[in-house]
Amino acid sequence: MKTVVIGGGVVGVTTAYYLARDGHDVTVLEKAADLGTDATGGNAGLIAPSHSFAWASPQAPRMLVRSLMGEATAIRVKLSLDPRFLWWGLQFMRECTSRRARANTVVKLGLAQYSQAEMYRLEEEESLAYDVVKKGAVYLYRDERELELGLERMALLAEHGQEVKRLSPDELVALDPAFKSAAEVVTGAIHGVGDGSGNSERFTAELAAVCEEKYGVRFRSGVTVQRLLSSGDRITAVVTDQGEIAADRFVLAAGIQSPILARTIGQSIPVFPAKGFSITARVEDDSATPTVGGVDEKTLVAWSRLGDSLRISSTAQFDGYDRSYVTSDFDNIFATARELFPGAADWSTAQVRSCMRPMTPDGPPIIGRGPRHANLYYNTGHGHMGWTMACGSSLLLADLMAGRRPALEMRPFVVRTRRKGR
Ligand SMILES: Cc1cc2nc3c(=O)[nH]c(=O)nc-3n(C[C@H](O)[C@H](O)[C@H](O)COP(=O)(O)OP(=O)(O)OC[C@H]3O[C@@H](n4cnc5c(N)ncnc54)[C@H](O)[C@@H]3O)c2cc1C
Repeated sequence: MKTVVIGGGVVGVTTAYYLARDGHDVTVLEKAADLGTDATGGNAGLIAPSHSFAWASPQAPRMLVRSLMGEATAIRVKLSLDPRFLWWGLQFMRECTSRRARANTVVKLGLAQYSQAEMYRLEEEESLAYDVVKKGAVYLYRDERELELGLERMALLAEHGQEVKRLSPDELVALDPAFKSAAEVVTGAIHGVGDGSGNSERFTAELAAVCEEKYGVRFRSGVTVQRLLSSGDRITAVVTDQGEIAADRFVLAAGIQSPILARTIGQSIPVFPAKGFSITARVEDDSATPTVGGVDEKTLVAWSRLGDSLRISSTAQFDGYDRSYVTSDFDNIFATARELFPGAADWSTAQVRSCMRPMTPDGPPIIGRGPRHANLYYNTGHGHMGWTMACGSSLLLADLMAGRRPALEMRPFVVRTRRKGR
């Protein structure tokens, strides 16, 4: 069975791995020169089921209005008449009830937990090195009331098997002495005990090497897919800048580009980019740099220790496909880093970049066979949690494609143009 996977990020490469293990003859097409350099290469690095909260929540509309009025909010929206964004935005608003936010969070949590376990299993089986840290993640609060609300919110995750613990500032320092300065400005923290962190770009490269050497997967980098070709209810080939490539089955795992390619065969999927900013700074003082990853819940800045670097990221900006940034986009990250981890790194030499999360309006990714074409599968729309969810999503898809019963109920992930009433 010849299978083409479009996209060589963490989702495309994990998809290739599970399919090749099932005996598919897999080719991965990636437009960049290297694998895993887009969202996979710039994320915050958290492997964090405790961070599964759906973005569409009762609080979100107020934040969007404040953003439109020019306030500096964590989620920012630039007013746009792009019909794709308006359609996506309407659906997002529909998901902002507490009932839907809860349901979407529980679905994402289940996938994140399943995926994390599978990632760690894969790490053992294939001896993957990716700067993984398995000491949990901390969610920092600077205000007692916010901490109480955070604990109330986390109760939903605890009900579904995610261990969370309240930490005093002293307990935070006991967990990781590099939080000494952070402990002076926070009132407390929540420890997502089962969370972790790791370098998804490195994981992707290591797994790709296993795919190539052990399972004969072909990676064709520098090849841009321009459109899909269909005949009746089948996809026959992809048209690339280097000619047509035919196969028996196709998997669309192209991150934020997935909806654009899907449209070439008349399929609309609700995935829209949310731009984020991240920095990677070389560690200068080991004792001042945390190994435990986390999120400052006030500034919504997230960090992870990636070997001898610290990755720090922030912000979700709905600004279409515009990847540009200005220096001030990183102010929040640098200010938080300097306050929480003074002396950890030479911030002036940090590499800065933007990257985009492929967001669905409800939160759960899109995994499965499309409604229009019998041999086209989707694995996309993993949003702010795609590193955590990649292995599980790809195993679920491989199970579906093999006719095996997936370990999770697949209805929430169905290929959709919009979410039908639930
Ligand atoms: C700022 C930020 C912070 C984040 N933090 C976290 C976190 O802490 N934890 C977590 O779990 N997740 C996090 N995420 C989310 C996570 O990074 C993404 O969900 C995940 O990387 C998506 O993987 P992907 O493979 O679908 O997309 P990508 O990594 O974007 O890969 C898609 C690939 O497809 C290729 N491609 C696109 N179009 C074509 C084409 N036409 N032809 C050929 N190739 C094509 C691209 O070049 C790219 O390499 C974060 C994301 C951002 C932006």
